[in-house]
Amino acid sequence: MKINRKNLSCKICQSKRILVFIQKKGYLMLKCRNCGFIFAPSINKEYIERVVEHYERRDPFLRVAKSRKFLYQRFLSEIDKRFAKKIRILDVGCGPGFFLSLARQKGWDCYGVEVVSSLCEMARRRYKLNNIINSRFEDIEFPDYYFDIITLWNVLDEIDAFKEVIIKVKRMLKEDGLLFIRTPNATFHSFFCRLHNFNLAPRRIFILHIRNFSKKSIQILLGKVGFSQVRVRNSSPTAGDPYGGKKGVKIYKFFAFLIAQLLFILSFGRVTLAPSIEVFAENGKN
Ligand SMILES: [Zn+2]
Repeated sequence: MKINRKNLSCKICQSKRILVFIQKKGYLMLKCRNCGFIFAPSINKEYIERVVEHYERRDPFLRVAKSRKFLYQRFLSEIDKRFAKKIRILDVGCGPGFFLSLARQKGWDCYGVEVVSSLCEMARRRYKLNNIINSRFEDIEFPDYYFDIITLWNVLDEIDAFKEVIIKVKRMLKEDGLLFIRTPNATFHSFFCRLHNFNLAPRRIFILHIRNFSKKSIQILLGKVGFSQVRVRNSSPTAGDPYGGKKGVKIYKFFAFLIAQLLFILSFGRVTLAPSIEVFAENGKN
């Protein structure tokens, strides 16, 4: 694959300082040297279909959801304290509905959108969730200023038109609404990807999706769209490895998180190096 570097720019900060991060057998990942965003330059329809097929048949989605239970519960109790009213929430890429089932226990008004039809069925049948829409988020509409909270749990990293999605999310949020995103941390994963090439890290410690956000890239993206008070923190590793990784990977991740937390505290919240990050963004007055 020939790359014309002159035409390349970052999809977030528009910097022209782009380097080829990985290129092999038709697989190409670029990295922005300004904001740290790592991205596939173009996504074809087959890729999207492969992702849907993966979540339809091969992903241990329920195990993954349950391994995040304590993250979900911590998030719900933090938010519940903050909004002293009944909350209307939309979970984009709600999967089998496990997170929303916990939100409903708090008395929240729950909506979910999910592209994989079998997961929608599970959310409706197993968790008795009524407002589950089987669609891509890009193709649905809700009224403006409709939701108090919109969440994207490990979803944005697989979305081609991620900026359009964030713009749409902002429109659907109330004026005092909150956007929450959890996503793998590109800074962590690019570092371990490099170490792996030098044979210093196991393969399963890093993941690269089509969109890999660093703290800086997500702050620039949300700032450009008009969110205010964007707060980024380390996200705890999930309980165990639902993908059945080796023990070594779990230990690596656990210590990586501990070190990341230490650096987070010592830098007064400026440095976030954990394997995953959590992002809170206020809609801000229009
Ligand atoms: Zn950039």
